[in-house]
Amino acid sequence: MSQQSFMNRRALLKTFGLGAVGLAVGSQLGTGMRASAQDAAPAARASAFYTQMIGDLELTVIQEAKIGLDASLFGLNAEAGAAAALLTENNLPSPAIDSTVNISLIRSGDRLALVDAGLGDFPFPGSSANRLIPTLALLGIAPTDITDLIITHFHPDHLGGISSMDGVVAFPNAVHHIHSVELNFLKNTSGTPLDDFINAANGRLQPIEAASQLQTFEADAELLPGVFAVHTPGHTPGHIALRLSSGDAQAMATLDVANHVVLALSRPDWYFGFDADPAAAVETRKSVFGMLADEKIQVVGYHFPFPGVGMIARDGEGFRYFGA
Ligand SMILES: [Zn+2]
Repeated sequence: MSQQSFMNRRALLKTFGLGAVGLAVGSQLGTGMRASAQDAAPAARASAFYTQMIGDLELTVIQEAKIGLDASLFGLNAEAGAAAALLTENNLPSPAIDSTVNISLIRSGDRLALVDAGLGDFPFPGSSANRLIPTLALLGIAPTDITDLIITHFHPDHLGGISSMDGVVAFPNAVHHIHSVELNFLKNTSGTPLDDFINAANGRLQPIEAASQLQTFEADAELLPGVFAVHTPGHTPGHIALRLSSGDAQAMATLDVANHVVLALSRPDWYFGFDADPAAAVETRKSVFGMLADEKIQVVGYHFPFPGVGMIARDGEGFRYFGA
């Protein structure tokens, strides 16, 4: 993996304006865009998919992207190097983390919904992205077939793919659902280190709003039959997970309640660099994964190794994941 193919924490925070230092963010982003455009060029190909039933709900997970992160993004409240050491202890590469973006496609009756849309053409250094639409084509699904798009939060690896950089709506027949708390935050927050993410998100939402395809929902809403929004704050103010329920079958798509299958589950108390309110994120992580472990509910992890579908067990103060 080349030096450019993943970002260390300092570069990442600089690039997206999350660092404490006010840098020339535009030029940093420009550098990232060039690097990523080169990386992404051969990536407009189909990727992997995985399908299973949850009662009458059909869940298909599509690998939209692979992204590079650095261990130093994890354990911000731990000793320096602790996350890298935990990766090494688990025989995983360190400190460069090869992460994944798993998009859920849910068929519920005559509705066909995507849960987020991945990076799309959003420039993210080290990414190999934009594989959602070619993979849907493998499944015989055109973008116009998607009836609903559920936006779980505003980060670019989740809503980058809802529209293109030049403002074309990716799923022209889809109602786009967003939590009122998240939209309110996006519309009314500026002058914070998150400005670049917020501006990028508002830019991607603009053509959806212009086409009157954006609808807000409140916590606990049933977004389509058997699919419920669960407010899971911390990563972002309006972050949602999704509870999937059909007959006796249940699963939960946890999205960014946990951002790494080992680091976030073994040490749910560790702060993560992209959590807006890390203390709240810790509480949410412990309670969601505790519930999944105790109630033996299947998990669908957005950033877990593809397809990220499995079971959770308690392990000391943390948790372990078993692919199923
Ligand atoms: Zn994410």
